[in-house]
Amino acid sequence: HFNPTRAPWRPGLNKKYMKLFDVYPINDITIVKAKGSYVWDQEGQQYLDLYGGHAVISIGHTHPHYVQRITEQLNKVGFYSNSIRIPLQEQLADKLGKVSGRPDYQLFLCNSGAEANENALKLASFHTGRKKVVAFRKSFHGRTSLAVAVTDNPAIVAPVNQTENVIFLPFNDDAALEECFAKQGNEIAAVIIEGIQGVGGINVAEAGFLQAISRLCKQYGSVFVADSVQCGYGRSGKFFSHDFAGVDADIYSMAKGMGNGFPVAGIIIAPELHAKHGMLGTTFGGNHLACAAALAVLEVIEQENLIANAAETGKYLMDELKKIPQLQRVRGKGLMIGFDVPEELKDLRKNLLWNQRVFTGEAKPNTIRLLPSLALRKKDADEFLEAIREEIHTMASVVVK
Ligand code: PMP
Repeated sequence: HFNPTRAPWRPGLNKKYMKLFDVYPINDITIVKAKGSYVWDQEGQQYLDLYGGHAVISIGHTHPHYVQRITEQLNKVGFYSNSIRIPLQEQLADKLGKVSGRPDYQLFLCNSGAEANENALKLASFHTGRKKVVAFRKSFHGRTSLAVAVTDNPAIVAPVNQTENVIFLPFNDDAALEECFAKQGNEIAAVIIEGIQGVGGINVAEAGFLQAISRLCKQYGSVFVADSVQCGYGRSGKFFSHDFAGVDADIYSMAKGMGNGFPVAGIIIAPELHAKHGMLGTTFGGNHLACAAALAVLEVIEQENLIANAAETGKYLMDELKKIPQLQRVRGKGLMIGFDVPEELKDLRKNLLWNQRVFTGEAKPNTIRLLPSLALRKKDADEFLEAIREEIHTMASVVVK
């Protein structure tokens, strides 16, 4: 009875084609060109990019040095495996040690922010032999099993990821932190915290709070993990935003801005931390192309003084935003800025996109997030300020009518 012409697994015959799995709400814009802080769509329409593909574009789109370094590397060798020495990894570690001011740390390379945090927490658990992790309300650390377990969003935690080993504490609450350590400090493998919460709405960790975490981790032998995936890599105006508190974490996780769009991530690890050979690993992590991309990013950050630019241009932008009376709780550091919009301006972000052609980010329920390239110029910031003032003015007059 077998009829091959009707076999459902022969594609095309039953006209069932593969579709994309329904994951993301999508704006129907196709970007075909990008340069610096600008992108263009198929119709040639220009957009100012203050979202940077979610804090990923650190040195600006299609930077010539970056393009050249990756292209040259691709023509030499694009990939081999981690069982053979890759000198580019050593060069990257050396450069990262210098730029981050932590030459004595060790580098482990992987492919995404979630994977970086996953490995950071795993290493902390191996090192301490403990199971419990302290995380904070409104945190976001990624979507793999440990990373999502320390993320404060039950909607993205599958039953298999649920664990009683994670203790969520209120953010910036010293008393709750002290109490937690007094009770069970000897069981805590790690504390994981973003220096500035990103997805959670641009919440800056107070210096005193980070200092308390550092002190308690030392006292109880727990590992301080600084998630710097979004707030790191110069975005805050320092290499790690935790640096504002003058503390050293035991592990820093990095991704997003590290590759300016090329998937590359990593953790840097304080010299005291140990894991046995083979406990961490990955096929793609630290491949030749990823290292070339990451090296190019650090070279441009250094050559163009982008961390100082993030501090300066960010301060200018934030000061000017504070002068716009309709915007509430303007906050952040460097070029990681958030502000709240009142109910009557709830469509501001959408209107900025469709009327002013500006990309921005959001955080629920009513925060607009700015995560532009660290190379954002004052004139780009001015263009945005003019666009937002104009849009607020237009929206206000529509409401009056
Ligand atoms: N940590 C933080 C602070 C993040 O913002 C993100 C991504 N939004 C992640 C981790 C996860 O990174 P990835 O998507 O590369 O896995």
